[in-house]
Amino acid sequence: MTIEFPAGTVLGYPRIGRNRELKRAVESYWRGASDAAALAATRAEVRAAARSALEAAGLGRDDASIPEADASYDHVLDTLVTVGAVPARFADVADLADQDLTFVLARGDAEHPALEMTKWFDTNYHYLVPEIGPETTFSYRSHERAEQVREAVAAGYATRPTLVGPVTFLALAKPSDDAPAGFAPLDRLDDVLDAYVEVLADLRAAGAQWVQLDESALVSEVLGVSQTELVDAAARAYERLAQAEERPALFVQTSYAALPAAAFGALAKAGVEAIGIDLVRGVAPANVTEFPGVRVVAGVIDGHNIWRGDLAAAFGKLSALAERGVLVSASTSTSLIHVPHTLADETELDAQLRNWLAFADEKAQQIATLARGLADGREAIDAELTAATEALAERAQAAGVRIPEVRERAASDIELSRGDADARAEAQQAALGLPVLPTTTIGSFPQTGEIRRARRAFGRGEITEAQYDEFLREEIRRVIELQEELGLDVLVHGEPERNDMVQYFAENLEGFVTTANGWVQSYGSRCTRPSILWGDVHRAAPITVEWTRYAQSLTAKPVKGMLTGPVTILAWSFVRDDQPLGDTARQVALALRDEVADLEAAGTGIIQVDEPALRELLPLRRADHEDYLRWSVDAFRLSTSVARPETQVHTHLCYSEFGEIIEAIDGLDADVTSIEAARSRMEVVADLHEHDYARGIGPGVWDIHSPRVPSEQEIAVLLELALAGIPANRLWVNPDCGLKTRGYDETVASLRNLVAATEQAREGITAPVA
Ligand code: GLN
Ligand code: ZN
Repeated sequence: MTIEFPAGTVLGYPRIGRNRELKRAVESYWRGASDAAALAATRAEVRAAARSALEAAGLGRDDASIPEADASYDHVLDTLVTVGAVPARFADVADLADQDLTFVLARGDAEHPALEMTKWFDTNYHYLVPEIGPETTFSYRSHERAEQVREAVAAGYATRPTLVGPVTFLALAKPSDDAPAGFAPLDRLDDVLDAYVEVLADLRAAGAQWVQLDESALVSEVLGVSQTELVDAAARAYERLAQAEERPALFVQTSYAALPAAAFGALAKAGVEAIGIDLVRGVAPANVTEFPGVRVVAGVIDGHNIWRGDLAAAFGKLSALAERGVLVSASTSTSLIHVPHTLADETELDAQLRNWLAFADEKAQQIATLARGLADGREAIDAELTAATEALAERAQAAGVRIPEVRERAASDIELSRGDADARAEAQQAALGLPVLPTTTIGSFPQTGEIRRARRAFGRGEITEAQYDEFLREEIRRVIELQEELGLDVLVHGEPERNDMVQYFAENLEGFVTTANGWVQSYGSRCTRPSILWGDVHRAAPITVEWTRYAQSLTAKPVKGMLTGPVTILAWSFVRDDQPLGDTARQVALALRDEVADLEAAGTGIIQVDEPALRELLPLRRADHEDYLRWSVDAFRLSTSVARPETQVHTHLCYSEFGEIIEAIDGLDADVTSIEAARSRMEVVADLHEHDYARGIGPGVWDIHSPRVPSEQEIAVLLELALAGIPANRLWVNPDCGLKTRGYDETVASLRNLVAATEQAREGITAPVA
């Protein structure tokens, strides 16, 4: 006897705890300061708090509308441990308790490099990448999900456990090192399904009426698996799961883009009871009315952003489906892990702005309202719809949301070209006089405890601004001296004034606010506090110029100016939803353009504009790529094209998977690009060679994600690999990324080896430097 799917639900809830209790408990456990029981207790408290928060927001206790949204570290990793897909290279630790095994998989240890981590769809959440090969065994291993259902039932909740679905689990996996060429993780679908069948039976036995399976891979065209393959896999998987004798009703949910009709049809025909579609990012599939028995869970409240939004329009989408005869429920478009817990903690926020926002609890309230409207008719929720509409109207008119001068400038025609790149390279070499294979770093130096303490003291008013400034100057002096002593060629000021590469700019630009407790999980115990971009963006005063100028005054070597690019600023903030992203990017770009011009005027000969998020925002559907790449590349050029030809523009992209967007990267027209390459042992060099990439390029020679110090010899080998595909006069030598998470010991040792290896490599180069 299964209960009907509820009229309203959320797809997930923040799981780090309202005051980051889980983060603290996990880190304390890692330090050895508390035991496994204490960690388990905190997790249980966080789960209980989530259930009561959702109930308080208006979701029902006994109708499966509250998801069981726990994760011990990451939901993909939890699914991996649930179906026992422990990679063979971890076989010797496979007997550890589930929680400990999870941590070894996620973080690695002396004998085991960690699983790779990558971005979850087009979000800033990172998941652990399963490694699947022909040798992988599957078995129902961790019973945590079922235990949590029992726990919830005991507390009086008809909860809904959530797991990553089998197709998405495999589509997001990578082939294990032992897999032969041509093997794809999806080849193991039938085997993993055996484990899922067992899991479902146990969830049912524990009392789950519904289970939620996340199959967002079905909306993506950029996973390297074709749409046909995904649809076939979904059909196979869900026919099998639907036929399982003992199981909860199946709710297959998809997020982040439109679900294609073929995938919707396959799920419906397979016998899935409810299908979730994202109606914030996409529209309903064309065949949505063709399966009257299937419940459509319509994601009409944006789960990936913090705006209160247009509630009446959301209700309109639900009504339109209902009028077409679709059995419809209201939901968030995505899990709420992407937004902070509650606005109740934002007492410092301007009251007017606060009225435009909705965090997780407030979004759950919106869902409860919509569900009531579906049950009792529009009149029943008229007051709520009107209030949201009024807030929206007020927002559209509010001071700062639309500033005529900012808009006029953004609408004007601005030259994006800096002229011929080769001619520029010559002018830059004449101005800078750099040696062949110039050495540099990516910008940040270690953020020491001392720096964080000083920042905190300044934030609390315990030291004056003058004292804090003096502290930062001292820090810059130290970092410049160190780089001179090490013999690096292009220096940086070290970014000690920045808490975070995006938040720092958000705090110094008009049009942004920061929150007090707006933390969201980035991965594991790591959280970020994105700023809110609410209004027209402009720059009131120079931001970085004084620090850079000061650093340059201390040395005869060039010091790079260091900015965060427009796309990355958008990707790592909560961005206004009332205009196209490209329009907002243009405003941010113009603010940065002013900063570039001022840096140049202050004598900065090299300016780096970091765009590590360029790839992350790449839309999941190919039809949207062209538009995205056009506005994102234009925004970068808009921010940099003000620089004179002899000023060298650098950019930094963290990753090295160039394939998909190499033309866009070329289109940035940066003179020098630094990328990550050490872990993949310069794999990217072949790509660059193949594309005749004709600009300065710095493939990283030191993997800064681990505390390991690379030896001089190791770096020399990487440089040799690089020189095999990149002309010497284009090659730069640098680490993979910024050094802010590293300690000084390993930083000094590694940079020493980097400089020594470069000197060694230079001796082998006889070609004249162009
Ligand atoms: N300049 C930044 C730093 O060095 C770049 C970091 C990044 O791209 N993630 O920290
Ligand atoms: Zn980086």
